[in-house]
Amino acid sequence: MKTALLWFRRDLRVHDHPALRAAAAEFERLVAVFVLDDALLHGRFPSASRTRFLLGCLHALDHELRERGSALVVRHGTPERELVALAGEAGARTVLWTSDVGPYARARDGRVVEALREAGVEARPSGGNYVVDISKPRTKGGKPYSVFSPFWRSWLEMERRDVLRAPRTLPPLPSKVHRGRLPGGVGELGIDEGGLVGEPLVEPGEAAARRAVARWLDGGVEHYADRQDAMGRRGTSCLSPYLRWGCLSPRELEERARGRGGEGAGAWVRQLCWREFYAHVLLMWPSNARQEFQERYRDLEWDSDPELLAAWQRGETGYPIVDAGMRQLAATGWMHNRARLAVGSFLTKDLHLDWREGEAWFERLLLDGEPAQNNGNWQWIASVGTDPAPFFRRMYNPTLQGQRFDPTGEYVRRWVPELRGVSDEHLFEPWKLSEAQQREAGVRIGGDYPEPVVDHKAERERAMERYRRASDR
Ligand SMILES: Cc1cc2nc3c(=O)[nH]c(=O)nc-3n(C[C@H](O)[C@H](O)[C@H](O)COP(=O)(O)OP(=O)(O)OC[C@H]3O[C@@H](n4cnc5c(N)ncnc54)[C@H](O)[C@@H]3O)c2cc1C
Repeated sequence: MKTALLWFRRDLRVHDHPALRAAAAEFERLVAVFVLDDALLHGRFPSASRTRFLLGCLHALDHELRERGSALVVRHGTPERELVALAGEAGARTVLWTSDVGPYARARDGRVVEALREAGVEARPSGGNYVVDISKPRTKGGKPYSVFSPFWRSWLEMERRDVLRAPRTLPPLPSKVHRGRLPGGVGELGIDEGGLVGEPLVEPGEAAARRAVARWLDGGVEHYADRQDAMGRRGTSCLSPYLRWGCLSPRELEERARGRGGEGAGAWVRQLCWREFYAHVLLMWPSNARQEFQERYRDLEWDSDPELLAAWQRGETGYPIVDAGMRQLAATGWMHNRARLAVGSFLTKDLHLDWREGEAWFERLLLDGEPAQNNGNWQWIASVGTDPAPFFRRMYNPTLQGQRFDPTGEYVRRWVPELRGVSDEHLFEPWKLSEAQQREAGVRIGGDYPEPVVDHKAERERAMERYRRASDR
């Protein structure tokens, strides 16, 4: 009896899943398995909310697998040990999976390949997490890409595989395999439930993801080019948590969006390509996970100020657009991209705090938090990464950002309720309200809502000086 394991990691779907399709076609028995790995659950970037989302996705995947005559097997331990043991238990000679790009994932997969080889089991990684094979793009000079626009042009020309349907049925589990149990909640994994966000952005799992895609393609995407930066409206897809966990295939999304056509779909596909770009970057430069891509900024001076960091984390900086973003993150596990840029610029260039502090805080709360995207974007906004531009081009004025991208104040009023009564004119500079205006707006600046923790204009100058010094070295 030909038996295989399919090791699920962050490809938690049955539609357009190359490894699953191959397993269904070639094998008579199949063990679909997820390994709960403490190195990820409790490692460098633990997250109660993301783990809860993961568990939800796994329950949904188990349901999809059962509908097709299979079920999800669960193990808890190091993948190299658990997979070898399970292959032995099931009599499997092959393990299939979808390859990944982060340094931890690649080191882990290397260990798994080695352990399987020693046990005489074939390891078969394949693509599926990206639209194209992101290990392939090279510049004319034969180098990996470190600038987005030429990457995008080359990406557009690359070969695509066909989008695959979900298998109608799956080979059964070998009868002797013990299924294991999916935890019902993060508490069972020793994770503090106090860290959970209260109103998660989206419901976990592939079925919910596919409903969200249908809604997005039927309504939102056509307006994307005009609305993607409007923080107060739901102008973006909010599909990032699903892409992060592979509940959706980016290849299928690209195909379906292209099928809709139009400017909005074109602009949206370009955003999907940013995701591929940062995956390519981390795959090619794994050391970016810990240090700046640009060598000259590796000894940039950062301040250490726990109080300012805490004010930023809590959304109490006195700059409404920054505070709205940070509070949206804490409440929902997601933040609008424009707000991510504003809070990132503020942390690094107004507070002069290390971008790695921001990266870690985002990883703790984001449902879509993942090494390639989070790191790539943090390095971008800190002006230390790939796709470089002069540092002063990415120093955002939080007042102007608010006025420009939240002109009606909907976003700020939603997330910073203390400021609901403030007029549009003063909403992004509440410290300018007179005593009488504060009374009228029902807010006391310095009481109900903080005074600005720093002066943007002065800090901008200090940041310019620091970056200039580092650039000149
Ligand atoms: C400081 C900072 C940190 C970030 N950290 C993450 C992260 O950990 N995980 C993550 O998925 N995104 C991250 N982003 C990128 C971006 O903010 C989110 O992908 C986006 O807000 C998700 O919302 P959406 O699904 O509605 O996006 P849409 O606007 O609908 O875009 C569709 C998809 O394209 C991809 N995408 C869009 N913008 C970007 C981008 N700038 N970089 C990479 N991919 C993009 C996402 O997969 C997204 O779901 C970060 C951005 C910044 C500035």
